Amino acid sequence: MNNQNHTPPLLIHNARLATPVASTDGAPNWQLTEIFPAALYCENGCIVRVGKEQEVLAGLPACEHLDAKQRLITPGLVDCHTHPVFFNLRSHEFVQRVQGKTYKEIAAAGGGIRYSVRDLRQADAEALLQRVLQRLDNFLQYGTTTIEAKSGYGLSLEHELKSLEILQQAGNQHPVEIVPTFLGAHEVPDEFRERREDYIKLVVNEMIPAVSQKKLARFADVFCEDHVFKAEASRRILRAAKAAGLRPKIHADQLTASGGAEVAIDVGAISADHLENTPPALFESLRRRGVVPVLLPGADFFIRATKYADARAMIAAGLPVAISTDFNPGTCMTENLPMIMTLACLHLRLTPAEAFVAATLHAAQALDMGNRIGSLEVGKQADVVIWNAESIEEIPYHFAVNLVQQVIKQGCVVWPRNQASVN
Ligand SMILES: [Zn+2]
Repeated sequence: MNNQNHTPPLLIHNARLATPVASTDGAPNWQLTEIFPAALYCENGCIVRVGKEQEVLAGLPACEHLDAKQRLITPGLVDCHTHPVFFNLRSHEFVQRVQGKTYKEIAAAGGGIRYSVRDLRQADAEALLQRVLQRLDNFLQYGTTTIEAKSGYGLSLEHELKSLEILQQAGNQHPVEIVPTFLGAHEVPDEFRERREDYIKLVVNEMIPAVSQKKLARFADVFCEDHVFKAEASRRILRAAKAAGLRPKIHADQLTASGGAEVAIDVGAISADHLENTPPALFESLRRRGVVPVLLPGADFFIRATKYADARAMIAAGLPVAISTDFNPGTCMTENLPMIMTLACLHLRLTPAEAFVAATLHAAQALDMGNRIGSLEVGKQADVVIWNAESIEEIPYHFAVNLVQQVIKQGCVVWPRNQASVN
């Protein structure tokens, strides 16, 4: 979606505003700014005035307006770690897990990511695009206006490029903004199981240069785990990606302490994601290196992990903790980021305000977009959610229920679809 230059001015008034505010000293600001009655005025998709209603309205020319009816308004949610480019679901694996199999056992038997890879390679590109668009609708209706989206179910040059091209097409057709990440190192595909080194060479020597040359991704990611890509292989892949202009991200220490956080520090990753088993002694180094920790409690919940990331120790160490769905067909089948806020409160022991900052401003920082999205401040993109709620804490408290009333992307009402014009 690119309507930045054509959007008519819009005023949202009679609102209860709650937003993170970017800090000026570099340390995370966990406090929300709350204003009532508040208003927000935008032009060309960007916020021009925001704050106390009286001050925003003073001298404002007549324009389209939207009465929030004293409801809560916030920045659009930012989901900074998702895997939406898969074809069929894996609900049969959910049944197996409910009956006692573990995620690792299912993967070792050829299920898991490798199942989705075989499936995606056979899928018709147009049919796949339609499924991705449907998933974007799900994100949007739960208040998410930007997602990071990874490839990683192709695992061949052809099918990784196809996955990233589908993300590009989806982003052109849908209001949800997509930030693409190349995840060719998600798993070793069936045909390379006996020659894993050859697959790493394929990723480094062919996939990364092609993705970079076609400008199909901003980031590159690796699933660093002893049974997938060990720390040394992850380091090689991410160094090659960085040299080709793709900023590193990493799935680190989810199932075991396998050195992923150290790799993030070594290569200067923009984010290190999961971190359930990361030694706390590394938190200070992550902070000094500017690595954003992205925590994914939905995956822990869904695979019934016994260990969650130590978010309180990370916050105490001064880290700008972000949270995300990790939306994927195996370990977290939900586009509902407010539900993840609930899990972050209960299992990571974040306060509702902290969970909200983690799902907006800090998530934007995990995408190097903290200066454009993630808070309602002058000069930022007008990505706004109007909630059927009066306060932030109602969002994680009233869990698994959709409280989103309306979604505005770059100054346009984009959800619900039938309310394309404002009152
Ligand atoms: Zn993931």
